[in-house]
Amino acid sequence: MNYLSVSDAQEVIFKHIHMQKSEYLSLHASLNRILAEDVISNRNHPPYDVSAMDGYAVRFDDVKNAIPEQPVRLHVVDDIRAGNMPNIKVLQGRAARIMTGAPTPQGVDTVIRCEDTQDDGNDVLILTSPKQGANIRPMGENLMDGKIVLNQGTLITPSVLAILAMVKQKKVRVFAQPTVAILSSGDELEGLDEAVDDNKIPDANSHALYAQCKALGIEPTLLGIARDNPIELRAKLAQGLKYDVLLASGGVSVGHHDFMRPTLDALGITMHFWRVAMRPGHPLAFGTTEHGTAVFGLPGNPVSSMVCFEQFVSPALRQMMGHKKIFRRTIQARLGQDLKDRTGRAHFVRVSLEKDIKGDYVAYSTGSQGSGILMSMAVAQGFVVVPEYSDGLREGDGVQVQLLQGMDFQEGMDV
Ligand code: AMP
Ligand code: MG
Repeated sequence: MNYLSVSDAQEVIFKHIHMQKSEYLSLHASLNRILAEDVISNRNHPPYDVSAMDGYAVRFDDVKNAIPEQPVRLHVVDDIRAGNMPNIKVLQGRAARIMTGAPTPQGVDTVIRCEDTQDDGNDVLILTSPKQGANIRPMGENLMDGKIVLNQGTLITPSVLAILAMVKQKKVRVFAQPTVAILSSGDELEGLDEAVDDNKIPDANSHALYAQCKALGIEPTLLGIARDNPIELRAKLAQGLKYDVLLASGGVSVGHHDFMRPTLDALGITMHFWRVAMRPGHPLAFGTTEHGTAVFGLPGNPVSSMVCFEQFVSPALRQMMGHKKIFRRTIQARLGQDLKDRTGRAHFVRVSLEKDIKGDYVAYSTGSQGSGILMSMAVAQGFVVVPEYSDGLREGDGVQVQLLQGMDFQEGMDV
């Protein structure tokens, strides 16, 4: 059976998944989605040349020699506020008082800000002159009627949402979110609502995967726990095939009670691979149905399941949702210790980050890297990958740290 490198496995996944269809959402509901079409402006903004400052609209020629010792005196002929149209042309030797955002009157080409003027009855004294054209926002500077203002594929951030509002997109065409089902499997698993039983293992994966989906903006459905028997597993998996993506954890290895493999086969799912050369996360299955459901068989160990989600499921979901950036950010750091590894598989080591006196990041292992140890995952800020064919990395080596979720805020980075 195929035994793929991490990047080869990602390639296989990207080749077999489908972009989501698009849907119309109300403006506010479109936040954090991806635009499924170009958006064209239906207006000029500003609609005409407007002042960028509270001040005086003037003819540059009149004021170009103004200095505090020799101010230029102009007669004030108008007072223009935002939203009002000026009706007087400003002639030589004259000025109009103007507010930020108010249209500039005919005849002027420059605005002098209040701070550089002095009122004198019906006149104003101009104390200094900026460049010609200063403090005027030209018509269409922000948005040009008929021009594309936002491209398909744009992530709808708060500022993008504001632009959509300005061009009156009450409904926005975005890529749909994939529907995701989550299933845990194992006789030993104890559900969240079950009483504590010392002979059982609490189901962590359903909840870790739920949270990882939520962090991508997806509300997944929990299908619960399937026991290790082919009939129950098949019924639950069949339920999951109604979704765009099915995440089933546990039972993927080759143990006696690992029924995932034959059951997925029996359901007619085309399996593209079963194993990836990585640690944690060695048993990882990926398949697709003819209806386009993508099925991930994730390892049972909670850290393995989470790491596989990060490396494979998250980029796949983001690609399906139309994101252009599908991988998490990496930062350059230096290793604070040796990381030994001779397994011949890519090792995703959980690390925390510190800053040295020069401000460079130094990465340290968060402790025991066992695939069931969630604690060393919970305190991690990212992963360092010890490459597949290396016997480890040395203290002082430069590495890329793949940041985990939530590390984009400064306080998350500074430990
Ligand atoms: P498996 O892949 O089914 O062989 O499981 C590997 C290990 O992960 C076993 O120790 C399981 O008890 C554990 N495990 C499997 N599923 C879960 C789960 N949903 N939550 C926590 N641990 C699990
Ligand atoms: Mg099991």
